[in-house]
Amino acid sequence: MPECGDARLNETPVSRKVEVGGRQVGGEVDALMCTKCGHVMFSGPALEAFEISAAAALIEHRVLTPQTFRFALKALGIKSKELVTMFFTIPETVSRWEAGTIKIGPLCFFPLLMLLQETMGGELRPARMLAGMQTKPAGRR
Ligand SMILES: [Zn+2]
Repeated sequence: MPECGDARLNETPVSRKVEVGGRQVGGEVDALMCTKCGHVMFSGPALEAFEISAAAALIEHRVLTPQTFRFALKALGIKSKELVTMFFTIPETVSRWEAGTIKIGPLCFFPLLMLLQETMGGELRPARMLAGMQTKPAGRR
């Protein structure tokens, strides 16, 4: 911080929470903390990585809501137009998914989860993911 003069910035993990459709997801984000005033700064990429893992955690916990869907798309930087191609569908359907006026099928979350896991550099386990997707989602209204 400029007002802290010669204070140092220490790299430190800071716990952070995000609320998506009434569900809270927490995690640790690497941040820089001012040794003098305690001010915390997050880097853009660290926050992006946090949102990616939060979105993956929501889907893995079967919180298959329109809010999770929008959050995952934002985290991945996927535009509505790209969804039309990805799901072989029409723009009207994507609009309704995003607005929550029609139900998003559980399998629509599957490619998003794969993309999230790929971004995280984790191991992809499609068979296990699909087995989980067949169970009733936990986030049903
Ligand atoms: Zn400071």
